Amino acid sequence: MNIPFLDLQRIPVDVKIKLENKFSSMLHSGVFSGGKEVENFEKKMAQRLDCPDFLACSNGTDALEIALRLLQIGPGDKVAVPALTWVSTAEVVKILGADIVFVDTDPDGLIDLEKLQKTTSDQLKAVIPVHLYGKMVDMEKLCSWANKNSVKVIEDNAQGFGSTLYGKAAGTWGNVGCFSFYPTKNLGALGEAGGLVLKDQNLLEQAKRMINHGQSSRDVHDIIGKNARIDSLQAAFLNIFLDHFDHWQYLRKNYAQIYLDKLSGLSDLALPSNCHERSHNLHLFTIQTPERDKLKPFLKQKGIGTAVHYPKIIPEMDPYKDDGDYPVAKSISQQTLSLPLNPFLDEKEVVFVSDTIRRFFNS
Ligand SMILES: *Cc1c(COP(=O)(O)O)cnc(C)c1O
Repeated sequence: MNIPFLDLQRIPVDVKIKLENKFSSMLHSGVFSGGKEVENFEKKMAQRLDCPDFLACSNGTDALEIALRLLQIGPGDKVAVPALTWVSTAEVVKILGADIVFVDTDPDGLIDLEKLQKTTSDQLKAVIPVHLYGKMVDMEKLCSWANKNSVKVIEDNAQGFGSTLYGKAAGTWGNVGCFSFYPTKNLGALGEAGGLVLKDQNLLEQAKRMINHGQSSRDVHDIIGKNARIDSLQAAFLNIFLDHFDHWQYLRKNYAQIYLDKLSGLSDLALPSNCHERSHNLHLFTIQTPERDKLKPFLKQKGIGTAVHYPKIIPEMDPYKDDGDYPVAKSISQQTLSLPLNPFLDEKEVVFVSDTIRRFFNS
């Protein structure tokens, strides 16, 4: 068996043909920036998320940076960030010269709301909740606390597209929602892409300018922006992938259910909570075990690829060094293991992964 963690060569042939045809027609059209594909993508995304507008951009990290700039976060300001996340969440705060207040996570890896509420300071201007692994932070609770304390909420929804809470889509709860369509996400481009949801019409207009050099009309640059436009080609590919999204989510759900059924009852293994619920997009299927560092090479030797999200918490990385204690996030980083979960697997492979893991624990 050879079961890679995620192999994008496995995109089904019929989808590959559609992508090739799309590339060919784009090449003939000569439109590589803006245009109909970008418009269509933004329209379809807004529909799907059930929100008035969606703004496509270059990637998820730029989306986060733009969100902070729109909310005028800068030197002297503090921004709360979970101790366990992909580095972008912390990186953008530093880029803008603001200070990070790290917050420990709960056992699922989400920002701990009790601990967040204890960090209040006058300088705390914003919080960036991350829907890690696709599981949503309790946004109702977080937003109501943030409103009362005049703290802005920037959702890092890079991993949460397709997740909902009380029927409301991830990325539409905060003041700004940030999306990534990096190739490995549930909705992934064939390169870099991202997007933003902004509720405030004024901020939305500013964001449109900001991603295009602060330009309001040709050669008029009212604000300092950057080049954070999406490629038309990527928007076109994403339009094709969007048509397959629901079916691929269905497959993910099926495979996750197999893992949950087959892996239950092992004493040294904790399964992810609530991931069987409809509201979870199953971006990653993460188990936790103190045996992680033995299990990973064992699976590799049997031909099974896994990944660790993430082996190091951010406050332990040099540019973000912080002496605080983040015991829960730290323990996840030491015990978490992501199993293969993507629409390009087949059922036999998922069963084989499960059986191999059972064999590891039973021997
Ligand atoms: C992928 C990811 C990002 C960054 O998105 P890019 O499009 O790669 O810039 C940010 N935050 C989290 C949690 C991510 O998983």
